[in-house]
Amino acid sequence: MWRVQLGGGARRSESRSDFMLLTITSTHRPATELGYLLAKHPDKCQTFSLAYGEAHVFYPVVTEERCTAALLLDFDPVGLVRGRRWGQHSEGTLAHYVNDRPYTASSFLSVAIAQVFGSAMKGVSKARQALADTPLALDVCLSAVPARGGERLLRGLFEPLGYRVDVQRIVLDEAFPEWGEGNCFELRLRADVRLADLLTHLYVLIPVLDDQKHYWVGDDEVDKLLDKGAEWLSVHPMREQITLRYLRHRRGLFRDALRRLMAGDDPVSEEREAEKEQEEEALERPMSLNDQRLGAVLAVLRDAGATRVLDLGCGEGKLVRVLLKEQSIAKVVGVDVSMGSLERARERLKLDRMPEIRRNKVELFQGSLTYRDNRFSDCDAACAIEVIEHIDASRLGAFERVLFEFATPPTVILTTPNVEYNGRFQSLPAGRFRHRDHRFEWTRREFQTWCTRIAERHGYAVRFLPIGVEDAEVGAPTQMAVFQR
Ligand code: SAH
Repeated sequence: MWRVQLGGGARRSESRSDFMLLTITSTHRPATELGYLLAKHPDKCQTFSLAYGEAHVFYPVVTEERCTAALLLDFDPVGLVRGRRWGQHSEGTLAHYVNDRPYTASSFLSVAIAQVFGSAMKGVSKARQALADTPLALDVCLSAVPARGGERLLRGLFEPLGYRVDVQRIVLDEAFPEWGEGNCFELRLRADVRLADLLTHLYVLIPVLDDQKHYWVGDDEVDKLLDKGAEWLSVHPMREQITLRYLRHRRGLFRDALRRLMAGDDPVSEEREAEKEQEEEALERPMSLNDQRLGAVLAVLRDAGATRVLDLGCGEGKLVRVLLKEQSIAKVVGVDVSMGSLERARERLKLDRMPEIRRNKVELFQGSLTYRDNRFSDCDAACAIEVIEHIDASRLGAFERVLFEFATPPTVILTTPNVEYNGRFQSLPAGRFRHRDHRFEWTRREFQTWCTRIAERHGYAVRFLPIGVEDAEVGAPTQMAVFQR
């Protein structure tokens, strides 16, 4: 049937059907827990029937230190053509029989990932949820990816997502070196990443590599793309190319997807967003926690003598408005990933009707806190107020580097909810976060440990201040860290 050469590329097997191999290796000890995350037992070899062949899952390496799961696709390429499963308009020409698709990673692999590792891709693990939420040291090998655009494309797609990328061009046939090299690459990706994020990246980007033929583009593809890719894709430097290739150059769909990505959302989800904000505000209003937060931030900025302030994740511009009224502050720069929020900020601040002298103090732009940006460097204080908990835990390392390694403002102020306090909010059901978009909420200890490590690594001093009325047992509702160089 099939023959596996670990560490090598895909090889044609003796039979008519052929295969494509994806391996995922974890070195996060005990590495065998990878089996729980994938919901596939390391001692078994399991086979799944797919529309165009079979998928096998097995573990070639199973030790406490290192565990490798393999997903092997075993195609029936001729059956594929005969069944015309890849589109109504395809013709049974010779090209369909004589092609390299079956040996390469393709949209079929994406379908298989979604089908075979569905729960892992959603980030759900019955047995090991905490581990599913944690970035793990993962090493992925794809035996043969077709990449029109070559190594540069592969790097351009995966490096901004934090992967170390190794690429090796595959010789068409080792028995006939004179045939030369094809458009196929062995691709190796390494990162500390949540398994769900890794699978989602592969799910979206594999069909993008496979630009030549792509069989599953329909209107619902826009939804699939936004569902799986929205957050990281909207800030990916290659988002236009990814969207265009994923949607197979169908301009209408492409524009629709891009508009929705860049707007941060469609009108329906804009409403949902506003609703979510209101929920959080209503929860905190009796204490006017928001005002206390802004007051505390302003006090620190004054104390630091800041004149040029960066508001990272500025949202609707609450802090920007406060800072604009401050005589000592000469420049306020608000950054947010969501175009919708920036638009609301412009409206709420009434930017177009503002006297010019004040208008010149403000700058708002779209950007991501997890990508290096030179525009972040020109300030003497940066604030991220109630923002870190909106960033995927796996991207916090990128946020740290962007801010503390590259931008390096003399003062940094971070605030985030103190989860220990949640029980004190009467209207918040137990176990629920304060906002539906929060990826996590930390205890004081978790926040302080994270901040202290950052300060040590990047040469800052850090102190912690409570915001809101402090409870003897669980502390204050909001926690603030002030970093200074
Ligand atoms: N600081 C504001 C808004 C907090 S809500 C306030 O205190 O009112 C969190 C904000 O962070 C949202 O507007 C969201 O769009 C933004 N955000 C989340 N992830 C981001 C990222 N990676 N880059 C930039 N902004 C981000």
